[in-house]
Amino acid sequence: NISEKSPVIRQLDDAAINRIAAGEVVERPASAVKELVENALDAGAGRIEVSYGVGGKTLIRVTDDGCGIAADDLPLALSRHATSKIDGSDLLDIHTFGFRGEALPSLGAVGRLKITSRAQGHDAASITVEGGQMSAVKPAALGGGTIVELRDLFYATPARLKFMRTDRAEAQAITDVVKRLAMAEPFVGFTLRDLTNGGEGRVTFRADPESGDLFDALHGRLARILGAEFADNALRIDATREGLHLTGYAALPTYSRGSAVAQYLFVNGRPVKDKLLVGALRGAYFDFLSRDRHPAAALFIECDPHLVDVNVHPAKSEVRFRDPGLARGLIVSALRHALAEAGHRASTTVAG
Ligand code: ADP
Ligand code: MG
Repeated sequence: NISEKSPVIRQLDDAAINRIAAGEVVERPASAVKELVENALDAGAGRIEVSYGVGGKTLIRVTDDGCGIAADDLPLALSRHATSKIDGSDLLDIHTFGFRGEALPSLGAVGRLKITSRAQGHDAASITVEGGQMSAVKPAALGGGTIVELRDLFYATPARLKFMRTDRAEAQAITDVVKRLAMAEPFVGFTLRDLTNGGEGRVTFRADPESGDLFDALHGRLARILGAEFADNALRIDATREGLHLTGYAALPTYSRGSAVAQYLFVNGRPVKDKLLVGALRGAYFDFLSRDRHPAAALFIECDPHLVDVNVHPAKSEVRFRDPGLARGLIVSALRHALAEAGHRASTTVAG
């Protein structure tokens, strides 16, 4: 049963394409914050400040002291599939958070976006994009680095606006995103500022410039983010197997939780949510914890980018290991070893 008139096929314009893509990349204010902070990290920033108002609904501002964007490149940074991070020849060889060149054009499609930046050897400049319309590049005043300001997120997509949660819930999600990224980057200083009602709320994760040691820096950062009690009960993890390097801290069984809230996995510096971690932790603590208790850990796997595919989802919190069994086995054996050693230490201390 064929209708008489076939529908017309049209090419969508850029603004529509960006708005559709934004639906994938920018789900809520916290996802915008994630993209912007990841851009700052990719730019080699040593200090990053995240400010937001009204749960990120009215304003998100990320300031960094990274490499900046040359004035002439500002329009390109806002163009779809334009990136300085890969050349497209090897999608499995990715060393940065970004690579799709989608975040900025998507944000410019669903909010009022302003970028002010200064790259070395260039004058500071700014550009704005609203409703997908880019302004001309204008001279600006900035010592270095980049400021990205996103106002009125989803003003152009009322359907999305309705799906936003309370200001409190969105602010909490922003805080979670920044904490996760701050855990993975203990040498970078972070400031998180809630500008709502005069801007009293401020959290700072200082980078300790004295300490060049990753484990010291990480331990300090985890103490700040997960609490001193976690840090005091945390066992240092450091193990390698067949090209996978596992580091981090896992808490003693005595510091267990009623839910799996304090379980963090990072793969090549990227926070990932993966059943792999939950399963591996359960396996590792099986002999040490009752079933209703959940261990706490922040674990980091570093490996050749070819051993893991991060190209699974635009939001990029999923990864796919070429050999998931290897990653799981490494976590289970390294943690079991650390737990057994800690148990042994405890019993010999008591005996002695
Ligand atoms: P991607 O991160 O996937 O490359 P984005 O849309 O997030 O795509 O950013 C586009 C480009 O803009 C980046 O490749 C980078 O060159 C530049 N850029 C974005 N944010 C920053 C920043 N904070 N500092 C320096 N350059 C940036
Ligand atoms: Mg990016």
